Amino acid sequence: MILDGNDVSKRIKDKLALQVAALEQKGVRPCLATILVGDDPASATYVRMKGNACKRLGIESKKIELPKETTTKELLAVIRELNNDSSVHGILLQHPVPSQIDERAAFDEIAIEKDVDGVTTLGFAQNAFGFAHYPSCTPAAILAILDHYQLPIEGKHAVVVGRSPILGKPVSQMLLNRNATVTICHSRTENVSDFVEKADIVVAAVGKPNFIQGEWIKSGAVVLDAGYNKGNIGDCEYDGCAQRASAITPVPGGVGPVTISMLLKHTVEAAERSV
Ligand code: NAP
Repeated sequence: MILDGNDVSKRIKDKLALQVAALEQKGVRPCLATILVGDDPASATYVRMKGNACKRLGIESKKIELPKETTTKELLAVIRELNNDSSVHGILLQHPVPSQIDERAAFDEIAIEKDVDGVTTLGFAQNAFGFAHYPSCTPAAILAILDHYQLPIEGKHAVVVGRSPILGKPVSQMLLNRNATVTICHSRTENVSDFVEKADIVVAAVGKPNFIQGEWIKSGAVVLDAGYNKGNIGDCEYDGCAQRASAITPVPGGVGPVTISMLLKHTVEAAERSV
């Protein structure tokens, strides 16, 4: 079975359109503020894509573009202003920021009720405890895909390859909170394939094209490939993995589109909570 992220994303957005219309009746228009620091073309593209997705759904997108020389102090002041602006419901600071900026300090300046991208330390901790309103969007997307296709999580052995704070770690916590038995692999793990071979659920979050090989996949396993590498290539060697998996996300058209929908969903929910 191919886990169709475009279809899952469309269903989420159809539901969100109704929620946006209901908010409009109350005179509230959800608004996501995006902050882009510097002129990295890939980051600019991501911000533009997120802004367009907002617009299509009737969510306002407030774009803040700051020069690449911006200091931590200046960025924190901009974030504080957005925290205090009641017309803004969600704040997204595009990662990565230029190296002179203390990125952790900047993320942590975002008010928790506007942290729709799940980047603050508090949001991360709430997610670990299992009561975050807005977990990181890609982990939330992975869980949404599993749930949409009613793929069981409880009691399953999930192997997550990657432990970044926005992806590998939070998705591991979410799977653990749903009663999976979770193994996390990273760059210092010896013989990653030994772990992947035992997995009922494989989450690829490595950032290396075709890293996970078809022969590592246990027959019937579920494979979620969050990887997005140059040339639209995932972290899993798709053809080989698809042959052995019972279900797999393609790249593109798998985790990616659902991630954007999660950002929209969190923004709409933040607007609902503000009323
Ligand atoms: P990241 O911050 O670079 O983290 C990569 C993780 O992979 C690290 O934990 C690293 O281990 C681990 N790793 C690297 N080499 C490894 C190896 N040989 N064996 C085992 N583990 C290894 O990347 P990220 O931000 O989590 O992103 C991962 C992938 O997901 C990328 O392809 C990215 O483009 C994609 N992504 C997609 C979306 C989406 O919306 N679909 C969103 C975000 C990211 P260490 O911790 O030991 O360094």
